Amino acid sequence: MTDTAKTDATTDTPMVESAGVHKYFGRLEVLKGIDLQVMPGEVMCVVGPSGSGKSTFLRCINHLEKLTAGKLWVDGELVGYRQKGDKLYELRDREVAAKRREIGMVFQRFNLFPHMNASENIMEAPIQVRGESRSLARERAMTLLERVGLAEKAKAYPRELSGGQQQRVAIARALAMEPKLMLFDEPTSALDPELVGEVLAVMRKLAQEGMTMIVVTHEMGFAREVGDSFVFMDDGVVVEHGHPREVLANPQHERTKSFLGKVLS
Ligand code: ADP
Ligand code: MG
Repeated sequence: MTDTAKTDATTDTPMVESAGVHKYFGRLEVLKGIDLQVMPGEVMCVVGPSGSGKSTFLRCINHLEKLTAGKLWVDGELVGYRQKGDKLYELRDREVAAKRREIGMVFQRFNLFPHMNASENIMEAPIQVRGESRSLARERAMTLLERVGLAEKAKAYPRELSGGQQQRVAIARALAMEPKLMLFDEPTSALDPELVGEVLAVMRKLAQEGMTMIVVTHEMGFAREVGDSFVFMDDGVVVEHGHPREVLANPQHERTKSFLGKVLS
């Protein structure tokens, strides 16, 4: 981040702040005290072995899982609670849903609505959730399809699109709600290798436009070139957190070295 960004008072509030976040599923402790900050405009790449808690952490940020202990703020607001004086009140489902809409999420499996074409997929939430007019929603969908390089596919159904194209529509769909934060959970892991690049290119552009992003990925080239910060998670803890080029070139912990050795070879 630039120094000028730091002097602007509004950007002093982290977009995401996690303090001692713990999550249990029954007796299984999946997150064992996560402390992290993501500043506005930052791209944080999160890497780690399967089962280390990466998806669970994203789901906690997105109000899809309740924390067992610790605190999590998104844009200065406590996730799951409303503060009144010094008392905390648990949010109602409706309030939780409203908060979730401020955050865009893109999954490994694109989860497009199969019976809707690309532009209808993108128009759905703005119309249903925000009560937007069809014409405005359609206009925005077209702009977004252009942004992800798919203007000519507006009428195509998911089954008529490649995996890479479907994932780009899924990104456009998330952007249609004008999120302040985007979470990506292994967005290219289900793609054939030759389709990975087109999705990463869209994500790179989004990053350059200033979107705050947390990206769970094993694409180390992307992490190195686009990431502002790099987190290595293992077994529910943040093992290492630093600048991507520094961590990738010079990992400090044995577990990081061993994992990176496997994915980079
Ligand atoms: P990652 O995304 O790093 O692969 P996950 O966050 O998906 O890891 O999972 C971390 C651990 O939590 C795994 O052991 C997984 O089996 C467990 N887990 C995830 N979701 C649930 C759930 N809803 N109920 C029980 N266990 C879960
Ligand atoms: Mg996962």
